[in-house]
Amino acid sequence: MCPMARIYRSYSLVQRLRLILWAMFLVPLLVGLAFFLLYSSQALHQETQRDLKATLALQQQFIEYWVKERAKDVGYLAADPRVLLLPPDSLRDMLTGMLAATPAFDDLVYVGENGRTKADPKHPTGVDVSDREYFLAAKRGQGSISNVITSRTTGAKIIVVASPVMDSRGQFKGLVFGSVRLDTLLGLLQAMYSATTSRTFLLDAKGTLLSPASNPAKPDARPLRSLHGGDVIYDSAKAGTLPSGIYRNRDDERVVGVYRWILDNRWLLVAEKPESEIMRLHAGILGFPLLGAALLFLGFGPVALRLARSLEGPVRRLEEHSRKIEGGDFDVQCDPEPHLGDPVEIKRLNVAYCLMVERVRDTLDALRQASLTDHLTGSANRKLLFQEGPRLIDAALRADMPVSLLMLDLDHFKSVNDTYGHAAGDAVLAAFADLLEHKVRQSDIFARVGGEEFAVLAPNAGSEAVCELAERIRAAVAELPVPVPTSTGETTLSITVSIGAATLSLEPGGEHPHLRNTLESLMAAADDALYQAKKNGRNRVESLALLPAPARG
Ligand code: GH3
Ligand code: MG
Ligand code: MG
Repeated sequence: MCPMARIYRSYSLVQRLRLILWAMFLVPLLVGLAFFLLYSSQALHQETQRDLKATLALQQQFIEYWVKERAKDVGYLAADPRVLLLPPDSLRDMLTGMLAATPAFDDLVYVGENGRTKADPKHPTGVDVSDREYFLAAKRGQGSISNVITSRTTGAKIIVVASPVMDSRGQFKGLVFGSVRLDTLLGLLQAMYSATTSRTFLLDAKGTLLSPASNPAKPDARPLRSLHGGDVIYDSAKAGTLPSGIYRNRDDERVVGVYRWILDNRWLLVAEKPESEIMRLHAGILGFPLLGAALLFLGFGPVALRLARSLEGPVRRLEEHSRKIEGGDFDVQCDPEPHLGDPVEIKRLNVAYCLMVERVRDTLDALRQASLTDHLTGSANRKLLFQEGPRLIDAALRADMPVSLLMLDLDHFKSVNDTYGHAAGDAVLAAFADLLEHKVRQSDIFARVGGEEFAVLAPNAGSEAVCELAERIRAAVAELPVPVPTSTGETTLSITVSIGAATLSLEPGGEHPHLRNTLESLMAAADDALYQAKKNGRNRVESLALLPAPARG
């Protein structure tokens, strides 16, 4: 493969520039996005888990604080000596008053040492609770907070907070308990649930749902259900581990979830957030880098495009010039004036390039000129005569005009060289050429065709006119004093010239001859006439007036 072909197979500067600019924007953007998507989804799951944990911690604190406050209320009451001193009716009135002051309690009851209720503001007394956990604990001298149980008097789900009553000698004398309706506690929690986008619910240790199955604040949400073995979050809670990342819950929904045991592992708080909801948040966050990228694109895009254009324009101009020069056209118009906004290197390159093109063009012109000029006399040479001659002959013949040619040869020129030296010969040649230049017309071509031989091509000149011209030249040369250098100084010489003339005139509408042959034929005929002139004594003009028209070929 030649090296040029290899050059054109590679990418242009402009293409590379565009490629780099696109890569500059797209590669970091895509890498950033991919990184963000991979990394942030994991980070988001962890963050969601952290958020849910914080929510549950808050709710645990709230529930435990609230329940312990109720235990304290009951403890104060159990330690009040009036509980043992007052008769049952008065005690009931006292409890009624206290119930009104602490609306968190559904009921406040005094149970005697036999396990039967003795004072109850809301229900008849004599109900046997001796089998209840809280009675057995009180008998052991311990206060207690029960699981969720069903009230024997109302059938409602309640939590019982109990405290033993002791006499002054420390003997067990029964207990005081306060019942709290589960609904009251859940109602208080509800306010906290609705503030979060996650689902938070309360279960007992066996996984039975204590929270209401549906949330009136979110009627569209799936109803909650109790948990069993096999449910990821329940199994994790039992094992004391945390589910890692996303899992499928009891409704086959992909969620992030956490749990928290509260009140000494009595109850289980669970919070879950569906992945779809996290992803919605994710999409919102994703908007920021996209927006950032778009802003970056809008901000830097035009600047980058301007940069690309400022390089592309001048580079294209240079490339167009290069193509023309490659095609051999050195006459391209190169504008060295810098274009406003071109980068300084390109400006410099353009100026240097234009200078180079100009220099090459001038050199070529000079070479062309030199190849067509005779260096000694400064007149045209044989090459120029043969380059321009046919065109002049053609134009004349088309206009039905004759064409003539003179061959001129200095007489006894060799003796000038022999007598005065070569430099003197050169001076004679220069003076003769100078004279010829002033004698011929602008439209004529005169050229040095040999050592001391010259030719004059005179289009539009007939035999008569060209003989007159030849005669004028001959006479002028004979009268021309030519100063020449000699070994001792300078001397003035007189010279003569012999001239042969030939003329071609076609019949109107006649066949057009081959033009180069015509020029050669004219020269050959003029040479013949010159030979005659030399033979007839030199310093004279001979002409061949009629030249047979040469055949085309
Ligand atoms: P004729 O009258 O028959 O033309 O005789 P001639 O001496 O002019 O012709 P000839 O052909 O014998 O000699 C021509 C001479 O011209 C020979 C050569 O040395 C000389 N000559 C050719 N070119 C140059 C040149 O450039 N400078 C000089 N000084 N002499 C040249
Ligand atoms: Mg000669
Ligand atoms: Mg001669």
